[in-house]
Order: sequence, then structure tokens, then C-alpha cells
Amino acid sequence: MAAARQLATYKTENIIFVMTDGLRWQEVFRGADPALMNKEEGGVTDIPALKQSYWRESAQERREVLLPFVWNTMAKGGQIFGNRDQGSEASVTNGFNFSYPGYSETLCGFPDPRIHSNDKVPNPNVTVLEWLSKLPAFQGKIAAFGAWDVFPSIFNAGRAGFPVNAGYDPFDLLPGSPRAELLNQLKAESPHVWEDETFDVIPFHTALEYLKARHPRVLYLSLGETDDWAHAGNYTEYLNAAHRVDDYLAMLWKTVQSMPKYRGKTTLIFSPDHGRGELSDWKGHGQKIPDSKYIWMAFLGPDTPALGERGRIPAVMQNQIAATLAALLGEDYHSSVPQSGMPVSDVLPR
Ligand SMILES: [Zn+2]
Repeated sequence: MAAARQLATYKTENIIFVMTDGLRWQEVFRGADPALMNKEEGGVTDIPALKQSYWRESAQERREVLLPFVWNTMAKGGQIFGNRDQGSEASVTNGFNFSYPGYSETLCGFPDPRIHSNDKVPNPNVTVLEWLSKLPAFQGKIAAFGAWDVFPSIFNAGRAGFPVNAGYDPFDLLPGSPRAELLNQLKAESPHVWEDETFDVIPFHTALEYLKARHPRVLYLSLGETDDWAHAGNYTEYLNAAHRVDDYLAMLWKTVQSMPKYRGKTTLIFSPDHGRGELSDWKGHGQKIPDSKYIWMAFLGPDTPALGERGRIPAVMQNQIAATLAALLGEDYHSSVPQSGMPVSDVLPR
């Protein structure tokens, strides 16, 4: 590996990168979709209750009630890309529009035609986390948590050199922590509704415990319920899952702002792995649903100018996230991995 080139020194010393699987740009920017708040398309059983939770007259009110942290904190103090209604487009470039290709493109910074399934094939490519973990300043300071049990393959955990905990595997790196012990017990003993993925509550709290106890410089967390409930055609639980992820972001942000190691020195990144279709195609995504290539991405931290919701700007791509993450930490991933997308320069100091 070529020596990392140091970029300008920024304030960011730590990154928290949260992804939620297949959450559509439509809900992120418009809030709950009236076309799906019904029995026929959205499988909604209690329409008045769902409306009370998430229906408001304007798109702006709807998105704020669905994702209050994203809109009141991330978008106000940072930037969010991908509102196609405002001339801001964000998309995947891998052409598959499903999970493993999307996570790999995001984390490696380029698509790879060999990554064409969700099979548990160890990633032949190096993620930006693995690349960072080889630098002295990041050794032992990176950890990844995922709801989906394919993450050890996506990160190539056997080679990566940092902990990757996912699916129903117990997490054993917090010995003596009663909360970690209870989380492991819940993994083992709660119903395995999806055989490849836990409910989000478990990896979230496992990651939060690890953050508090071990102070990683890069914490990655991937959540999956937004995709699972959509595939199941359950619009109520899909919205509830999105709302919960927003609450998890708020909890992570509150936690880091309470810790001197992180306060004022941490950037939060939030994105999905792919989008989904429109109207009755909302349940699915993939090559046959071209609209599912559209995603969104949000950044909040001490180096990112507070330009808020972006509009009328050139498109950004999923393959830019890896180099952006590294650049915020002052590391030049793009020069080392030239096939990776360029950093999103607007989120870096001018
Ligand atoms: Zn996915």
C-alpha cells in the first residue's frame, strides 16, 4: 500500500458513520408518503394512528416529524445531499442497487463487478476502514457493528484487523460489561424474525457501549430494519424504523458531545446503501428498479460548512463517501486508491 498522504489538518479526529439499509430519499426529504399510508400499498392496519404519528400538511413538517435529528440538527449544522425535488442528486454507481454492492462501493470508494450478489464472499477489496487501520494513528481504534450478518464478509473481517460484529454473533470484546452481556443474551434468546439480521436495537446499543468504553476513532454502524420492513410491505414499521434510526443518531451525537475525547472533534456521516422504487415498487430495489439507484447522504461535524439542505448543485456519488471520510481525518485516500471517487469537497473546510 502506498504511504498515506496527509491533507490539511482539520478539527475532525473521529468519525461516526451510520448507514441504514434502503431508506428512500423520498421519505428523507418529503416525509411519510401519502400513496403508501394505506392498506393496499403499505399494509397499514391503523391508518389514523399512523397519520397521527407521521402525517402533517407540508413535506417540511412531515420530514421533521419523521427524522427530527436529521432535520433539526444534521441539516442545520451540516449538509444533506440528495433532494431531487431541489436539484440535488445522489446515486450509487454500481448498477446493482442492492446491499453488498452498495456497502462495498461506499466503504471501498469504487464499484466492483465481482461484487454482484449478497453472498458471504470475503471482499477482495480493501475498505477505507481497513486502509485507515494500517496507519499508526488508527491501529486498534476502529470498530464496525452491523445488524446484517454479511458485514464480516463486506469488511473481510479475517483480513481487516479490526473488530466486526454483526448479525447474531455474540460480541465478546467488552468482558464484564453487564449491558454487553444482556445484549448478547437478547441476540441468542429473542425470536430470530429474520435469520440473517437482528433488530436494530441490538447492534445500536452494542456499538454505543463500545464507544463509551473503548473510544474508537472510527465507529461504523449499519442498521437494517428500514429495508426488512419495506421488503415485508409494512409501511408502518418502515417509518417507525426510520424514526428509531434518527433517535439513535441523536443519542450517539449527545453521547459524543458529552465526552471530551469527542466533543467538537467528531464528524457524523449518515447514508443508505441504495434506494427503492416508487409507488407499488417501494418494497423492492435492484437492477430492475432503476429509481433505486438514488440515495442521499448527510454530514455533520466541526469541519463541514453549515450549508444545510443542498440544492441546484452537481450530483454526488456513493463512491465519494470513502475518500470524504478519510479526508475529514486528514488522510488522502483518493491518491492511494485512484479508482475511488473524489471527496465531496463541499463538506470539507474551504
Ligand atoms: Zn440493502
